[in-house]
Amino acid sequence: MPNLRPLRQFYCDECGKIIESADDGAVEYLYSPGEGAEPTEIWGFRIVHNILASPKDSCSYDEGHYLSVSGESTSSVELNLARYLDHQGVSRLLAILEACRSGVMQFKEKKDFGEFLDVFRRLQIPYYEEARLLLEEDDKITGPLVSDDLKFIVESDSSHSSTRM
Ligand SMILES: [Zn+2]
Repeated sequence: MPNLRPLRQFYCDECGKIIESADDGAVEYLYSPGEGAEPTEIWGFRIVHNILASPKDSCSYDEGHYLSVSGESTSSVELNLARYLDHQGVSRLLAILEACRSGVMQFKEKKDFGEFLDVFRRLQIPYYEEARLLLEEDDKITGPLVSDDLKFIVESDSSHSSTRM
């Protein structure tokens, strides 16, 4: 039996616990405005508990912490997770890619684009959230990762009835 309700429950990237419903979650990322006409750099996409549902003080990026580490102007954006599900969510996620294509924004590094794609799949492909913990990195590159295959992976994993983390 899967541990999560597909596309409705998620694992928090900060505390590792289950986000029980979409209304308890947030999609967040970091950004640094470019100088002049330079594109805004974005990175660090992840899925976390929102402030009200967090089992600790907060699962969100600590803005001050990131400011002091990078020494440059860095801020975090926290988005309502429920708005990034279903077909409305696809449109909102594609708008981020469109902003990158048009040069308004850009991923800071190639790996940050990869993290965005991972979050995109987690929000949109049934069973991906659970199956990704069982996939190899190569599987993400070579396979289309359709939900039927992911469901099979999740349901065949005998260790899966125990809670992760
Ligand atoms: Zn959390």
